[in-house]
Amino acid sequence: GTITFTIIKPGAVKNEHIGPILDKISDAGFHIAAMKMVQLSRSEARSFYCIHKDKPFFEDLVEFMVSGPIVAAILQKENAVDDFRKLIGNTDPTKAEPGTIRHMFAKSVQANAVHGSDSDENAQKESEYFFAGYEKF
Ligand code: ATP
Repeated sequence: GTITFTIIKPGAVKNEHIGPILDKISDAGFHIAAMKMVQLSRSEARSFYCIHKDKPFFEDLVEFMVSGPIVAAILQKENAVDDFRKLIGNTDPTKAEPGTIRHMFAKSVQANAVHGSDSDENAQKESEYFFAGYEKF
């Protein structure tokens, strides 16, 4: 299958949502191909979200992403990128459909529980960034 990359963000880790989120991911048919819990540095968080570096919320987002450990994982499934975006729901949890991970576990637009890659190219880049030596399946 194809891959996507996910992060369980610090708020969801702190609120003991790792287990329930991984259950949702497995129940939706994703295979967890790689996974680790890490503390991001500010420079790593800036680099991960550099596409947003000129946005007003950027510095707050970086502070949030370094506020505690995250769980990074590579997920494998047919149509992984699109199916995972559907499973997590809208960036804004007030707009996320019931049953989606963000509807269930997100606290705000910033603390929205999970990240999911937005393209196959970014899934590959993000996976290689977090899992050095990782190569395309
Ligand atoms: P992600 O990239 O984390 O999967 P996304 O693709 O749904 O999220 P993006 O627009 O790429 O959303 O924004 C990246 C992240 O930046 C969001 O998940 C959220 O944590 C934060 N963010 C986006 N917009 C805002 C905002 N208006 N205020 C605060 N934080 C925001």
